[in-house]
Formats: sequence, C-alpha cells, structure tokens
Amino acid sequence: MELWYTEKHSDNVGITLKITQTLFSGRSDFQQLEILDTLEYGRMMLLDGLVMVTERDEFIYHDMITHPALFTHPAPRKVLVIGGGDGGSIREIVRHPEVELAVLCEIDGLVIEKSLEFLPSMSSAINGEHPRVKLHVDDGLAYIRQHQGEFDVILVDSTDPIGPAVGLFEEDFYRLVFSALKEDGIMVAQSESPFYHAEIQKNMFRNLRTVFPIVEMYQAFIPTYPSGFWSFAFASKKYHPVRDFDAERAAKRDFHTRYYNENLHLGAFMLPTFAVENIAE
Ligand code: SAM
Repeated sequence: MELWYTEKHSDNVGITLKITQTLFSGRSDFQQLEILDTLEYGRMMLLDGLVMVTERDEFIYHDMITHPALFTHPAPRKVLVIGGGDGGSIREIVRHPEVELAVLCEIDGLVIEKSLEFLPSMSSAINGEHPRVKLHVDDGLAYIRQHQGEFDVILVDSTDPIGPAVGLFEEDFYRLVFSALKEDGIMVAQSESPFYHAEIQKNMFRNLRTVFPIVEMYQAFIPTYPSGFWSFAFASKKYHPVRDFDAERAAKRDFHTRYYNENLHLGAFMLPTFAVENIAE
C-alpha cells in the first residue's frame, strides 16, 4: 500500500509527498507534531498538519532567514530567534564568528526534543552544548518583554499566524521587538507567500511600517511551502538591506552556503510587480 502525505494550500490545491513511515506523532500543549520519512525530501516535520521543514530543502529557508540580516548588520553580536525549535536558524547564526550569543526562544519544548531526536542535521547547535547558544522554552512575546534593548538582530522563525504564533504578526508584537532591539537593530520575520497570502502580507507590512523606519520584503524559492514562492520581512532601525549591504564582507565569509550568496542577497530584494503591489502603502 502506498502512503502519501498531503498539505492543502487552498481548498482545491496542495502538495503531496510519498512517505515511507511515521517516525513520531504526538500532541504537545500547543500543537500536533509529526515527523515523517518521505521518499524524496528526507525527514519532514509537520505542526498541526503543515510542513515546517524537510531535510532536503531546509537549507534554503535557514540560509535566507538568517544571512541577509547578519551580513547587513555590521556587528551582530547578540541574536534572538523566536520560534525556530528545529534549530536550523541557530545552526546558521553560529557560523558567524562575530555572534557572541544566539538565544532561541521556542514556546514548545516537544519541538526541540523531537528535532534533537529525528533532525540532527538541523538541531546540532541546540543540543545544550554549544558555548554561544542559550535555549529558552517560552512564549516569544513574554520573553522580549523582559529583554528590552538587548539584541542586534531578532529573527521571527514562527509558524503561520494561527495558534501560538497569531500574536507574532501584530503591531503590538513589532513594538516589543523594536524595543528589544538595540538602537541599530534589525528584525527579520518569515512573511508567507506573495502568491497565496496577499491579505496576511498587507496587514503584516502595514503593521511593520507603523513601527520601523526601514521595511523591505525579500524572496526565496522554497519548494515545500505553498506555491514555492516564499518571502521574508526585513525591518530595520538604521541599516538598509541593499544600500548598506557590504557585498565584499559577505563574499569573504569563511563558510559555504548552498543558497545564500552576496549576489543573491541583492537579487532577493528585487520583487515581481504583484508582490510589490501586495504590500504597497
Ligand atoms: N520554518 C517554519 C515556517 O516558516 O513555518 C517555522 C519552523 S519552527 C518549527 C516554528 C516554531 O514557532 C514552532 O516550533 C512553534 O512552536 C514556534 N512558535 C509559535 N508561536 C510561538 C511563540 N509565540 N513563541 C515562541 N515560539 C513560537
């Protein structure tokens, strides 16, 4: 018998992957969690039935949620990830030698536990042994209330605006992030698909623009996310991701990245007309 997992992206469209087995299925206080083994995308994590990460294409998402901010900020010493319990963002952050402390604030301890057990290629830096990583199991909203003015970069690596993440797309949250950042801080948040989520994006970018002086969208191709055309919001107090980008510094990085590079950094901020119109003021 063939086994297939399908995620519906709308009532009539979805993605379906052939799977070999279910490695874990369980419910935390926050969400349903599955780890499936797929034939073509390796191991895959689902939360409430939605694709979070797969071993095959996670490099794209984790390169692109981390490196644009870390190569735009001239000295990203303290970095916070809200969400990101699979560990992929933290893995990329600690590759930057100037980062002195990377903090993960993930609301659901079960996500961390199962990522350590089943997704070792992503969770290698959140096993509690990395000298520059600190883990918190807490609501990101509560955490940043107690950590004002502390961070150079804050990455919101959250689930979609449902369940525990719904507050992470609101203006109040962005004001808290703004105050948790230092005076030249940068925030990046995954900002859904321009192809499917125009309404979510319109609200999200309007909320961001009421708080941050610089707000830009950039894109990445992520095959297992709805439509494959994904985006990130870049919100900054001082540095612009294109005008203030030091391509030479990024080109001289001493680690290999399979998706991100100094040319793509600039290209990712060039958007198709409909995506620009989605978030036009
Ligand atoms: N790359 C994925 C995406 O774009 O959908 C996100 C992956 S990561 C697993 C998302 C994490 O955000 C989940 O583990 C979830 O528990 C966490 N999360 C959701 N709301 C949160 C909150 N308020 N505070 C901290 N973590 C939260």
